[in-house]
Amino acid sequence: MNILVTGGAGYIGSHNVIALLEAGYNVIIFDNLELGHLETVETLKEIKAKGSVIDFIEGNLLLIQDVEAVFAKYQIDAIMHFAAYSQVAESVKEPQKYYYNNVLGTLNLLNTAMEYDVNKIVFSSTAATYGEPEYIPIDENHPQNPINTYGKTKLMIESIMDDYDKAYGLKSVRLRYFNVAGADSKNRVGEWHNPETHLIPNILKSTFGNGRVFQMFGTDYDTKDGTCVRDYINVEDLAQAHLLALKYLLNGGETNYFNLGTQEGSSVKEVFDICEKVTYQKFPVKIQPRRPGDPAILIADNKKAKEVLGWTPVHTLEQSIQTAYNWEVELAKRLANQV
Ligand code: UDP
Repeated sequence: MNILVTGGAGYIGSHNVIALLEAGYNVIIFDNLELGHLETVETLKEIKAKGSVIDFIEGNLLLIQDVEAVFAKYQIDAIMHFAAYSQVAESVKEPQKYYYNNVLGTLNLLNTAMEYDVNKIVFSSTAATYGEPEYIPIDENHPQNPINTYGKTKLMIESIMDDYDKAYGLKSVRLRYFNVAGADSKNRVGEWHNPETHLIPNILKSTFGNGRVFQMFGTDYDTKDGTCVRDYINVEDLAQAHLLALKYLLNGGETNYFNLGTQEGSSVKEVFDICEKVTYQKFPVKIQPRRPGDPAILIADNKKAKEVLGWTPVHTLEQSIQTAYNWEVELAKRLANQV
C-alpha cells in the first residue's frame, strides 16, 4: 500500500511517516524542503520497519509538473496532506503567500489525484477553522468562523474537499488539530522551526544558557491563573489518529472530520511549570502584553474521534514536554555540529 505524504519532512509530517512505516505502509514523501529538512528525510530513510519502503521526491505543489511526476511514477493508494504554511501571525501579514501556497497547492494536488483516480485523502486541518470559541469544549458542530488567514485557508480547503466529494467522489478525513506537542519517543525527529513561535519549544530553548528569555504573552485573561488555556495533543498520539483515519478511508469510510485534542486544558503558566520540573531548571521569563488573536481558552471535545475512529490519546502533557526537551537537546547538538 503506497501512501503519498506531502510535507513529510516537516514536524507533524515526519512523525506520521514513522507511524506509517511502523504500520507496514510504503511512504512517498513529497516536500519542497522550504520548511522541512533534508536531515529529517535522511533520518526517516534509516527507519526500516516491517519491510516497508520509503522514497523521497523533492518537489513543489505549486508546480503542476512536479505533482504530475509523482502520480505518474507511483501507484498511490491514498494521500496524507501536511504541506502548508502554518504561522498565524505571518498569515495575517502576508495573506497572498498563504492563499497562494495553501489553497492553490492543495488544488494542484487534488486535481492531479482526481486525474489518476486517487480518491482518499487525510488532511491536516486545524482548530483555527473554528475561530473565537462560542462554547468550550469545542465539538465538530461548532460554527467555523476563522479569524485569521491561516484558519481561512484550511477552511477553504475543507470546503473544496466537500465539493470534490459531491462532484468527483473524493473521500477526505479532515483532522482539526488543537495544540500539537512533543517529539518522537525514540528522539529521531521533532519540532524544528525557524523562527520558532510555539510555546513549549520556546520555553525549552532558554535552557541552553544562550541568553534567551521566555516571553509570556498575557497574564490578564479570564482563566484559572490569568494565562491562556490550550489543549496540548501529543504528536505521536496525533499520528495514531492519522493511521486510524487512513484505515477508515481504506475501509470505504465516507468524508468526515474530527477534532484531535485531549479534552483537557493547560494554562501557559502550568506548561511553564512542567518545563521547569522536567528539565530541573529555572527559566527567566518576561511578562508581555497579550499576543493579538489569541483566544483565552481552546479545548477540544474529542468524543467523535474516540467513537468513530476508536482513537485514544495516551501521552500526558508531561511526557510530551519530556520528549520535546530530549529533542531540543538533540537538535542543539545537531546544529552545533553543522557549524
Ligand atoms: N505563548 C507565549 N509565549 C511564546 C509562545 C506562545 O506565551 O513564546 C502563548 C500564546 O500566547 C498562547 C499559548 O502560548 O497563549 C500557545 O501558543 P502557541 O503559539 O504554542 O500555539 P497557538 O495556540 O497559537 O496555536
